Amino acid sequence: MEYAARFAAGRTTRKGSAEETQVGYSALVGVLREVTGVTQEELSKSYLKHGDLSESVAEFIGRRREATLFDGEEDPLTILDVASTFERMTEAQGKGSTATKRELVKSLLHRGEGELEAKYIVKILSKEMRIGLVEGLVEEAVAQAFGGDAGRETVKEAYLMLGDIGLLAREAKCGRLANVRIEPMRPTNFMLAEPMASAEEISAYFEGRELFAEYKYDGVRAQVHKLGGEVKIFSRRLEEMTRSFPEVVDAASRIPHDVVLDGEIVAFREGEGPLSFQLIQRRLRRADVEESKRIAPIRYFCFDMLYLDGSPTHRESFRARRALLWGVLKGTSLQRADSRTVRTAGEIDAFFRESRSLGYEGLVLKDPESPYTPGRRGRYWAKLKEELDTLDVVMVAAEFGHGKRAGKISDYTFAVRDGDGLKVIGKAYSGLTDKEIDEMMVRIKRLTVGEAGFRMAVRPEIVLEVAFDSIQKSERHDSGYALRFPRIKRVRDDKQAGDIDTLERVREIYEGQKVKADAA
Ligand code: AMP
Repeated sequence: MEYAARFAAGRTTRKGSAEETQVGYSALVGVLREVTGVTQEELSKSYLKHGDLSESVAEFIGRRREATLFDGEEDPLTILDVASTFERMTEAQGKGSTATKRELVKSLLHRGEGELEAKYIVKILSKEMRIGLVEGLVEEAVAQAFGGDAGRETVKEAYLMLGDIGLLAREAKCGRLANVRIEPMRPTNFMLAEPMASAEEISAYFEGRELFAEYKYDGVRAQVHKLGGEVKIFSRRLEEMTRSFPEVVDAASRIPHDVVLDGEIVAFREGEGPLSFQLIQRRLRRADVEESKRIAPIRYFCFDMLYLDGSPTHRESFRARRALLWGVLKGTSLQRADSRTVRTAGEIDAFFRESRSLGYEGLVLKDPESPYTPGRRGRYWAKLKEELDTLDVVMVAAEFGHGKRAGKISDYTFAVRDGDGLKVIGKAYSGLTDKEIDEMMVRIKRLTVGEAGFRMAVRPEIVLEVAFDSIQKSERHDSGYALRFPRIKRVRDDKQAGDIDTLERVREIYEGQKVKADAA
């Protein structure tokens, strides 16, 4: 049950596990060609027609028997076989692992029965379904199958807390949804903040009540779990990133309690303050601990605590949670988030200016009486940034640049979400450094799914945060809108395609501009 739900949602492994199957697109293409004898040209044509490798697999897998000497004596594939094969792919690391993985994919394609099995094996491995939308459907199915009297809300809450669709299915089937709790070593979804435009809007929204205001740190969100002698760090996508931050592991392991902490890891130098966000991204990409440490010093600013010594604390008020947290942090080298109690728009504004002058992004304002609600945005937390109008978008195509950037893939076409699909909204040429462009080129090559001249269609995985001057109506892109002067603010490796902004939000910003222009 657990595996079936996970596969249906397009995942090979449990969320929160450090490793993934990591089978590249080119490996899948290679295996498919080997198993079926299809030519590269036939495959490209088919891919351009379907836009999805798994559909091409379904088209060609019928040729398998002619192309290979397959004796057909193996047992039919079961879900558990697939799960254990995925596990073996995950375990294959280092030298020779690519060949091992290819052999394992081959064995699955041989043993799978008919087009459908082959198609879905490739769909899962190529992460074709991984834009986070399919998980919602599986969640709905779990609710219908086992939700019973517990109801939709209980299923949703349990899922947000468990973080993994397979665990949700298992707990639901066993009738244990009501007992799901936050537990150390199992990541839970993060509470999120609603963007707001001004100090006035925030103070009006919270009706002038007292608020805890904190600096908005520009780093990576991090959930730190400590149980006995063990420490693990999870990202906003619930992926493990323990190895990238040994200093945090070291400091957390000295806490004399079992805890789950929430906070932000920031590149930070004593006496100097916050450093560039890009440094943290670089640390995330380095597997080597010592090298990672050398890239930049860091600080972990803690602002919440979800679990303490055997008891979940997320249902308590923020005021109570924070009092406990400040106690837990005493005597450790982990930092308390800078915070101040504010009430009026004037006080919010003053603290906001202070935060900006120190090099932080703005503020996050929190209702002191609110519980911690995993995975939910709004209501209790609001964020205030200088530049409201940035959009999180996903790259869908890339091209070689001109002039100084000739020979480099440096022009990126990007899209926003519209229901289940994506709609192109613009193209950006600037914002990344030469070094970042080089790194991006490597990633794009890995994600390229078809080429037409100099233009590459890119699998929608790379999330970019783009700033722009305004939004215009335009026939140029299929969204019906275009961004004026778009520039890339940063690469958002902490987000995935399911987290990007929607066409609805684009419309809202567009309408908002009109109101402002009319009023001017
Ligand atoms: P954004 O990335 O613009 O959607 O803003 C939300 C992010 O701000 C969160 O996911 C955190 O990573 C980050 N953040 C920085 N400082 C804080 C804070 N004091 N409280 C909550 N989130 C914060």
